[in-house]
Amino acid sequence: MRSLKAELEQRKQEHLYRRRRITESPQAVHMRIDGRDVTSFCSNDYLGLANDPDIIKAFQNAANEFGVGSGAAHLINGHSRYHHELEEALAEFTGRERTLLFSTGYMANLGVAQALLGKGDAVFEDRLNHASLLDGGLLSQARLQRYPHQDSAALENKLQASRARQKLIMTDGVFSMDGDIAPLPELAKIARQNDAWLMVDDAHGLGALGKNGGGTLEHYGLSTEDVPVLMGTLGKAFGTAGAFVAGDEDLIEYLIQTARSYIYTTAMPAAIAAATLVSVEKIRNGQDRRDQLNQNIQHFRAAAREHGLSLLESETAIQGVMTGSSKAALRVSNLLFEKGFLVTAIRPPTVPQNTARLRITLSCDHSSEDIDHLIRYISKSCKTL
Ligand SMILES: *Cc1c(COP(=O)(O)O)cnc(C)c1O
Repeated sequence: MRSLKAELEQRKQEHLYRRRRITESPQAVHMRIDGRDVTSFCSNDYLGLANDPDIIKAFQNAANEFGVGSGAAHLINGHSRYHHELEEALAEFTGRERTLLFSTGYMANLGVAQALLGKGDAVFEDRLNHASLLDGGLLSQARLQRYPHQDSAALENKLQASRARQKLIMTDGVFSMDGDIAPLPELAKIARQNDAWLMVDDAHGLGALGKNGGGTLEHYGLSTEDVPVLMGTLGKAFGTAGAFVAGDEDLIEYLIQTARSYIYTTAMPAAIAAATLVSVEKIRNGQDRRDQLNQNIQHFRAAAREHGLSLLESETAIQGVMTGSSKAALRVSNLLFEKGFLVTAIRPPTVPQNTARLRITLSCDHSSEDIDHLIRYISKSCKTL
């Protein structure tokens, strides 16, 4: 039998060992973690909704009404009036016929791939897709074909050479580690020409991108015909928990009948759905929040350039500062924590070898002083290495 202890030890040696910090305050820009007051630059709570008083109130009221646990799967008796209303609100928000709630984004991605594909089919994925999309592809038993990051021509070649019966292209809308946006208009065209489905996982785009928070699809002006399968998560800009898939009537009905990660799991608490109904409203009317977020992104990039930091190309709230080695990324992240900044070091296998980085996520609630302080300390820490 293999020695888990030895493998864990090896991870430590390779600076790949992961530890959890303990949070002692709500999700916010300024929080208390491991007994320290820190400014957080690693949350996905882009619009500051995770601790919003109106959303909390809706959650509390619904918990009084429906209790905490939903008690069963959606197809048994766990599908409450709030779940149903949220599905309708999300359909209206995304401009699609219907949506279906899943308990997490990870499960939504597994469910879609498994429902739509099987042996003899093929799934095409960008190399930098989120792990849940890759795992969905593997679970589906279809042939998994990965193409180089953002390389639509390589994708097109693979599709043209494919003999598979069903073809599904899966991509992040905003890539979760690099923050760049997928070339969706091109992907949509390639999908149409090759009789393939296109699915976009817009975990980091919905709420944050687009004039009305409609995400990457609104950013490009794409329709259901361009992107038949849209997945969104509720734990990021929406500030609650869970996920949904949006599409036409047939897609959603087919998922209800066949997606195993939908059928064989307990429904999210009804109170989460009730809270998310308020999030959807806040996101629709969230132009001020999005404007502030965009100002923070511009400010961060300008200040980082001034200090000569090596930035990844990104116009979204996800910003990467390259450090090269895992060791350097970890050292800088630890130094920053001592100075009161929470910034994650992203290392292989989450990202490719030799591309370790600091991953900074911005929120509309960061002040320009927060950002200036961060940049100054990153710059200092890099120099002391
Ligand atoms: C966070 C994330 C997921 C997983 O969503 P959860 O609801 O946290 O399980 C899926 N895809 C992408 C791109 C993500 O960033």
